[in-house]
Amino acid sequence: SQDKAQNESYLVVGGCGFLGRHIVEQLLGRGESQVSVFDIVQRHFDSNVNFYIGDLSNPEDIQNALQKSKATVVIHTASPAHGMGRPVYEKVNVHGTRALIEACQEPSSTVKKLVYTSSGGVIYSGQENICNADERITYPETPLDAYNETKVAAEKMVLNANGVDGLLTCAIRPAGIFGPGDRQMISGFYGVVKNGQTKWQVGDNTNLGDFTYVGNVAHAHLLAADKLGSTYPYASLRDPIDSIDISVG
Ligand code: NAD
Repeated sequence: SQDKAQNESYLVVGGCGFLGRHIVEQLLGRGESQVSVFDIVQRHFDSNVNFYIGDLSNPEDIQNALQKSKATVVIHTASPAHGMGRPVYEKVNVHGTRALIEACQEPSSTVKKLVYTSSGGVIYSGQENICNADERITYPETPLDAYNETKVAAEKMVLNANGVDGLLTCAIRPAGIFGPGDRQMISGFYGVVKNGQTKWQVGDNTNLGDFTYVGNVAHAHLLAADKLGSTYPYASLRDPIDSIDISVG
């Protein structure tokens, strides 16, 4: 349960970000005593948290953080924000996530579980509506954009690492996230209003979109970390995730 400490050592990668910080606060709130953060910049200070400042795409930085934190559970929320361009996305989301997985799988690593923050955007091409999708839906042939293309690549690496070299993995795909600490969504909405870009609409006014409160997204990460390996439905599935295929209503 969320109120029960698990006696694990947690490393929240991207733990100075919007979602990452909520995950850190919830871990501390349920009494976890070993909580560390790895981030490229330190945005908050807390004497109960060990901060490791480094670049995810630098294998030495992440190895150092894993070793010093003695992490048993890694929650990977780090990603460049939208609007930064393909080279940065590839560097962090693809090369950084690969470096993290490899570091977790090192024989000397203490990490048992890796929870990855993916995105609902990984299954959306922008061409068709998606209703009632679940995790078995396939990736679109053409990703929505460079950001989502690299989120797909990272998610595939994470899921295909499940059960390899003693590591258990899973990915969570949030839709838009709102709540305290948001630095993207509300400022984006505000920018649209300020620029007078609100005088047109897409569709016939029946379109639906998902938004989730940041505390609930953070809670989902804690539940995933707690349950991974015991009740995770694909824990024993060894086929690459691309082979799962169902049609979506
Ligand atoms: P955020 O920008 O607030 O947090 C991301 C954190 O990652 C930042 O603290 C940043 O400094 C860190 N980071 C970036 N590059 C790094 C690097 N090279 N090395 C180490 N740390 C690095 O973003 P967020 O909104 O909290 O998003 C968290 C995750 O959730 C991301 O993976 C994002 O793709 C995913 N997501 C977010 C939303 C949303 O609406 N915010 C929706 C779906 C998925």
